[in-house]
Amino acid sequence: MRRCLIIPFFLLAISASCQPKKAGKPDQLIADLKELSSDKYQGRKMGSAGSQMAASYISERFAEIGLKSFNNSYRHKFSNLKAQGTNVLGYIEGKKKNEVIVISAHFDHIGIIDGKIYNGADDNASGVAVLLSLAKYFAAHKPQQTLIFAAFDGEEAGFLGARYFVAHPPLSLNKVILNINMDMVSRADNGKLYAAGAYHYPNLKKYLTSTNKTISLIAGHDDPKLGKNDWTKQSDHYAFLEKGIPFIYFGVEDHSDYHSNTDDFERIDTSRFLNCAAIIQEVVLKIDAGLSLQNTFREKLISQ
Ligand SMILES: [Zn+2]
Repeated sequence: MRRCLIIPFFLLAISASCQPKKAGKPDQLIADLKELSSDKYQGRKMGSAGSQMAASYISERFAEIGLKSFNNSYRHKFSNLKAQGTNVLGYIEGKKKNEVIVISAHFDHIGIIDGKIYNGADDNASGVAVLLSLAKYFAAHKPQQTLIFAAFDGEEAGFLGARYFVAHPPLSLNKVILNINMDMVSRADNGKLYAAGAYHYPNLKKYLTSTNKTISLIAGHDDPKLGKNDWTKQSDHYAFLEKGIPFIYFGVEDHSDYHSNTDDFERIDTSRFLNCAAIIQEVVLKIDAGLSLQNTFREKLISQ
């Protein structure tokens, strides 16, 4: 797995004053992050009671936001030999009905180990909180593309929810022109948020820029030559790439709390988190406005 980078504590204090301009409602973003990473959800391990509570919370939020559901339910159960999972899906119809972007973030984490709760605040309550804020934004601002919001289960067990989704999609997979995946988007301790995917689909690179002054957006971590620092196969977006669907994956570098029982809300600099959320919204807005079936070229990069 990826190496972690420790950043001097004083850098955290500097960012507190730089509030982002265009993030979703900051209070709600932080409230969703805090709620989902609280002990109450028992580390959200797939198949656990805590995981079911998390699926309920996300479904209630989808209903509050007014997302449409497939087959009258946001919850889509799946099972495999190991366990039963629940993907939470909702959507907003865009001006274009036949072009769909799947915006995803896994909500599961690794549960309780040796009596300790692994709350997975950064991994990945942060991604789910941004997913909800994007849903809220587009519910009020009709998008060009139809947007599916997918809180996947079973990522920690091998992208199980995402793989189930692409194998049993609620609509024709041919309509899906892009997956935008968020996994660990709060702990930009080095002041950097990364966007992977343009190595495989270079025409996506033009969207991966931001005006944010606090956090730098960097396109990368997707070249096979990088070895374990190539994040192409490291989260749910890989299930889409396996089906020839382009992806953009937002994530931060590993930190000292990665996959430990100290990945807690209290360890997150919320100002940095809000800036990361603002950057993601900025890029998604550009993609929604600029992307279309013609210019996604779903076939793989010639060289691969
Ligand atoms: Zn994760």
